[in-house]
This record gives sequence, C-alpha cells and structure tokens, in this order.
Amino acid sequence: MTNPAEILGLPKPAWAADEVGMLYDMAHRFMSEEIAPRYDEFEKNEMVDRESWLKAGAAGLLCASMPEEYGGSGGTFAHESAIIEAIGHVGVDGFGIGLHNSIVAPYILHYGSEEQKKKWLPKLATGELIGAIAMTEPGAGSDLQGVKTRAEKDGNQYKVNGSKTFITNGQLANFIIIVTKTDPEKGAKGTSLIVVETDEVEGFERGRNLDKIGLKANDTSELFFNDMRVPTSNLLGHEEGQGFVQLMQQLPQERLQIGTGAIAMVERALALTIDYVKERKAFGKAIIDFQNTQFKLAELKTEATIGRVFYNDCVARHIDGGLDPVTASMAKYWLSDLQGKVVDECLQLHGGYGYMNEYPIARMFRDARVQRIYGGTNEIMKLLIGRSL
Ligand SMILES: Cc1cc2nc3c(=O)[nH]c(=O)nc-3n(C[C@H](O)[C@H](O)[C@H](O)COP(=O)(O)OP(=O)(O)OC[C@H]3O[C@@H](n4cnc5c(N)ncnc54)[C@H](O)[C@@H]3O)c2cc1C
Repeated sequence: MTNPAEILGLPKPAWAADEVGMLYDMAHRFMSEEIAPRYDEFEKNEMVDRESWLKAGAAGLLCASMPEEYGGSGGTFAHESAIIEAIGHVGVDGFGIGLHNSIVAPYILHYGSEEQKKKWLPKLATGELIGAIAMTEPGAGSDLQGVKTRAEKDGNQYKVNGSKTFITNGQLANFIIIVTKTDPEKGAKGTSLIVVETDEVEGFERGRNLDKIGLKANDTSELFFNDMRVPTSNLLGHEEGQGFVQLMQQLPQERLQIGTGAIAMVERALALTIDYVKERKAFGKAIIDFQNTQFKLAELKTEATIGRVFYNDCVARHIDGGLDPVTASMAKYWLSDLQGKVVDECLQLHGGYGYMNEYPIARMFRDARVQRIYGGTNEIMKLLIGRSL
C-alpha cells in the first residue's frame, strides 16, 4: 500500500523530526505486527486484550509524554501525536491508548500530588493500569454541568453514587477518573475529579459493553457506582470544587488528539483509494483515468493538505503552550468533518466493494462517524468558536 504518511508529499514539521520520527516508525511497526494481525479478533470480542496493552507498555508506547521520573518517556504531545498517527495510518483506531496517554495520564501529572504521581503514573506507563475518564451520564453529555454523580465525604472516604455511560475503555479500565459533584448546590464549582482504582473498591459495577456501529475493537461501557467507597486521598487537586476548571484546561488537548486521529485516517483513506482506483477497471480503463475520479481525488488531496498544515501548526502551538481552546475546537470540528467527508467520497470510489467489510475503507467509514460526536460534539465546538467572535 502507498505510505499514508507520504501521500500528501509535504515536508515534515520541525516537531516531527528526529526522535519523534523514530517513535512513529516504532509505533507503526508495533501496530502492524502486534495489533493489525489480530484486529478482526479484537473487533469480534469488542475489545483489545489486556496483553496488548502490556506489550504496548513494554514497547514504550504508553505515557510517552510523561516525565521519565514517573515511568514515562519524557516526551511532549508531538510524541503522543506520532503514536496516534501510526494507529490511524495502520488502521487500528479501536486501540484506545490515545485516550490513556494524552487524556487520562495528563490529569494525574497536572493535578496529582507527588504521592499520586509516584503511585499511578509508572503503572499507567506499563499498562498495569488501563485508564478511562468518565464524564458523560445518561442525563448529561454536552452539558457537563448537569452531572449528577454524587461524592459525599464520610471520614477519610468518599461515598459515591451515580452512573456513567459511553465510557471508552470502560470494560478493561481499572483506573478511572470520575467527574463527580462534591457540592451539588454550587454547580460547576461543586465539581470534583476523583480517581477510582476499580480493583480496590466495593460498590463499583460495569454495565454493558455497548453495541456500537463502529470502533468495534474498542470497549465503550456503562459504569455504576452504588455506595462506592473511595479514599479521600484519591481526589485530584488540593481541594474539592476544582473539577470543572481542570476539565476546561485539559479539553484542548483532548480535542486536538481527536484531530490527530482524523488527519491520520484522512491520509490512510486517500492512500488506500488511490491504490484501488489505479487497479480497478471499468469500460476498458482504470477508474483513475476517469476525469471525475481525478477531480474528486484532487479536491480531497487539496483539503487534506489544508487540514495537515493546520494540524501541524496546532501541534507546534500546543507544544509551545500557545494553543487556545478556540483553535483546538476548530481543529476537532474541522478535521473530524473532513474525515467524514473524505472516507465517504473514498468509499464511493470503491463502488460496491467499499460497502464490504473485507475492504478497509468500509471499517474506516463506520469508525469515522463518532469523531464528530465525542470529545464535545461538533455543534458544541461551533458554540465555543462562536463565543470568540
Ligand atoms: C464511542 C463513544 C465514546 C465515548 N467516550 C467517552 C468517554 O470516554 N468519556 C466520556 O465521558 N464520554 C464519552 N463519550 C460521550 C460523548 O462525549 C457524548 O456522547 C457527547 O459529549 C455528546 O453528549 P450526548 O451523547 O449526551 O448528546 P447530547 O448532549 O444529548 O446532544 C444531542 C444533540 O444535541 C446537540 N446539542 C446539545 N447541546 C447543544 C447546544 N447547546 N447547541 C446546539 N446543539 C446542541 C448535540 O450537538 C447533539 O447533536 C463517548 C461517546 C461515544 C459515542
């Protein structure tokens, strides 16, 4: 297959040079050799197995941007981007290590006490702990202020009651950051993030592994907390009520990394499709020889190039600490919309074969849809961008 990383013919940005490039190559090899050959099995089981997480940890693909003193590789978001891009280019996007690496672990690094960092980050880096973040509830998705999960202090424990839904890695995760209300009277200011080590608590229950239309290899779950007891020392931040601010601070990176997956999968879709239309024939010539095919692919390659340049600029700004929430929202919304458009057009160029699950474009079509929904819907992104006008 044509190399998706080279399909646009763009020079590599400065942040992707040297050891970031080497990490990309290593991650690409790992995903091709360890995950891709078993991916059908993972889709059937509706989750990647624990052993693969441990192997990813041993290969240095977990917590790449966490400091070395806490078991990480001491990189930046550029390193996380390299890993997520490799996942997208190989086409194993159900392997939920992007969320573990660049969403869950940073909460511990930025808001955890020294003791919490030493206790949890090294185990997140090996894969002994698999991370998830539980914000969404049956009655609170876009409007996170409506979270009802209640954490009441009782001595040196919190008693937690409530439920969550749509939680990525929800069946496998044994380390879950839960968005709770410690003071429901105070609205957003009564929100706190509490870590649950699920192997160590009573009153924690997993619900169904939810039946989705795509991202089949990823487990997405309901979670229930019934008088669940968690030590008060598992609160993130020096005091209660910091949760909403912490979420707002971390959401730009979460949104940018959805853009990472999007641009990588745009490149893969183009690479697959260009190969396909050169081989497939109709009316005595290759599909690529029809002007419509050339025009369609010319448009898609142009938009993909615009997307890649924008994405690269966002990463450069993010590494410098200058990526604002509005631009991160633009990246999430625009790149995931682009992904939806490109995979749809590419599927069309495959004809009936594009609708068959044995062709990778079919899976990419199913997997793309959710990118416009999670991490804050694209409508919510536009709301945030609109506020800056
Ligand atoms: C596969 C998958 C994985 C997920 N992983 C996680 C996870 O790991 N952790 C987690 O906490 N959550 C996760 N989610 C949840 C996801 O973040 C929410 O589904 C999303 O934020 C939308 O919330 P909702 O589903 O309640 O939709 P709703 O909030 O009910 O929205 C329904 C529709 O109304 C629109 N809408 C809502 N408010 C407005 C407004 N003010 N203006 C205009 N339109 C509006 C929305 O854009 C949407 O189109 C996941 C979801 C999926 C499907």
